[in-house]
Amino acid sequence: MRRISYILVLVGLYAGVALFLHHIRQDKEQQYLDHAATLLSTTYTASLERYALAMDTFHSSMSQQPGLMALLNAGLNERPPNAFMRDQIHARLLPRYRYLQSRGIEQWQLHRRDGSSYLRFHAPGTHDDDLLPVRPSLRQLHENPRPSYGFEVGRLFIGFRFIYPLIEQGELVGSMETGVSFDHIRRTLDDLAPGQVFMFLLHRETVESIGFDHLRDHLSASQLSHNFLIDHLHQASPEQQGLPLPALLEQLASYPLDTRFKQGQPFSLPLYHQSLGYSAAFMPVYSFDQHLSGYILALHPEPPLTGIQWEYYTGLVISLVVILLLGWLVLSLHHQRQRFWSQQQRLDAIGRAVGEGIYVTDLNGHTLFVNEAACRMTGYNADRLYASNLHTLLHIHSPSTTAAPCPMLQAARTGTAYEGDELFRTRTGQELPVVVTSLPLIEQDEITGTVSVFRDISERKENERKLEELATTDPLTGLPNRRAFLQYLQEEIRLSKRLGHESALMMVDFDHFKAINDRYGHQAGDDVLQHFAREATACLRETDRLGRLGGEEFAILLPGTDPQGAHHLAERVRQRLEQHPTHSGQTQIPMTLSIGLTPLQAQDEDASTALNRADKALYRAKSTGRNRVEIG
Ligand code: GH3
Ligand code: MG
Ligand code: MG
Repeated sequence: MRRISYILVLVGLYAGVALFLHHIRQDKEQQYLDHAATLLSTTYTASLERYALAMDTFHSSMSQQPGLMALLNAGLNERPPNAFMRDQIHARLLPRYRYLQSRGIEQWQLHRRDGSSYLRFHAPGTHDDDLLPVRPSLRQLHENPRPSYGFEVGRLFIGFRFIYPLIEQGELVGSMETGVSFDHIRRTLDDLAPGQVFMFLLHRETVESIGFDHLRDHLSASQLSHNFLIDHLHQASPEQQGLPLPALLEQLASYPLDTRFKQGQPFSLPLYHQSLGYSAAFMPVYSFDQHLSGYILALHPEPPLTGIQWEYYTGLVISLVVILLLGWLVLSLHHQRQRFWSQQQRLDAIGRAVGEGIYVTDLNGHTLFVNEAACRMTGYNADRLYASNLHTLLHIHSPSTTAAPCPMLQAARTGTAYEGDELFRTRTGQELPVVVTSLPLIEQDEITGTVSVFRDISERKENERKLEELATTDPLTGLPNRRAFLQYLQEEIRLSKRLGHESALMMVDFDHFKAINDRYGHQAGDDVLQHFAREATACLRETDRLGRLGGEEFAILLPGTDPQGAHHLAERVRQRLEQHPTHSGQTQIPMTLSIGLTPLQAQDEDASTALNRADKALYRAKSTGRNRVEIG
């Protein structure tokens, strides 16, 4: 369906272009056709003027003949008509008629004042018939006695008439008329505009309305229109002027000519035969009483039309090729886009299918792609991630800052892969521990960014943390165990050496703990140990560390504390426990502690050195009576 509409658009586009080219062609053609119409009009007028001029001269030479007008006056006004007088006039004027014939004028007739025919030089035997009913030209002359010319169908003759009033001593005595057939007019047109073929189309009504059947003998229907007749005796032969007349007329007949003919206006049409251009110019011919009598048709070769037609077809072919190319280009772009989209959809599906977060960034960290899991894990929606610099938004390079150079981007810039545990910050501000595998993104042999896959390792980290806690914490009291305490001690020995401050270490052992166990039970013994952890912690500063070394033996590290301060604190712990017995159920369990105290010394190599010293001091406290503090 989409393909069909696409093809329809292209076809529509081509139709539009073709229409545009057609208009341009018509405009250009019209220029030459207008020229052809003007040429026909000018030559037609000029040819009639030529005859009119000749007739003017002829008429005035007659008027100046002494006695001739008087003779004509006598003949024209004689009642009843005198055949002798007519013969006399005929004989006298015959040489003039011969002269007129030699100038292409075929008819000469004298009329009486009443409009009846007096003498036809071309048909001397036919006379006295009333011409007024059929000859508007004569009616016109009687109303307005002045020379005129035009086309008219008469009783014997169809052609162009030149009519003059005959005036004797200021009085209209009759009129004279000469007639020229179209055949002669055509010859004049040929002289004036060689290279054209002229034809005359006579309006059928013009002849039929008059009803002179004999006139129709050499008229036949024109192939151009049923309403027009042509004079087949006097038409140009097909070979004339080298024009392919039958082909042109056949083509002309395919135009809706009747509509144009009805308008009674000059018009021109283009014709083409064997790739050559021709113009057909039509010139309306009106009768004296302004009825459309026919058309003169001029056919003329128009080489420029050939060029215009060639331009038009070339334009059509070129625009077809351009539109096809354009269509192909758009189609291939469309296919490319579809391929891209399906690839994108596959990528999205893969992105959704995997549980790991995937993101692609450029070398500056701007997001190019994120999958669903990445959104889910970080709590951001895709739009926010696409609009952000992912590394600035998410990546905590070290626990305190995001400003440190990103190890992933750095690795990508050098074209190497990166894998490691990283910390991301989610939308709610929580830290999200992840393991990231990052590969450089290489496009057209250039590193353009990174492709990173990350997995939430919160659970693993939590397990690690728990394991670590288990490894370093005493489960009964929640205090650091021996191992953890020894690490603190080791670190403090190093720090106090470096910074030169004083620190102290205490070892605490319960007096006769076995007896407590024996008397109150093992659980009560545990309660005592937990009670001690709480009470001792309450006596300590935040920086002091209390740890359980094992059994009922504890140690306290006092960083930045001199021996005096340490002793004071040891006493406080000892007394507090003495004064605060453990409540286990309803039972009060009194207890005492022995404490061995030692300051950390510059020569202490490790934790065990200091511990041994404290242990010795503790031993002394035990051996000198218990419930006391000894410094070693
Ligand atoms: P002294 O005054 O000489 O230190 O006498 P003592 O009884 O305290 O002797 P010693 O330190 O040798 O005895 C430690 C006793 O502490 C042995 C053991 O039964 C008991 N003990 C060790 N660890 C625990 C424990 O986690 N819970 C309980 N209830 N008793 C423990
Ligand atoms: Mg003990
Ligand atoms: Mg002990």
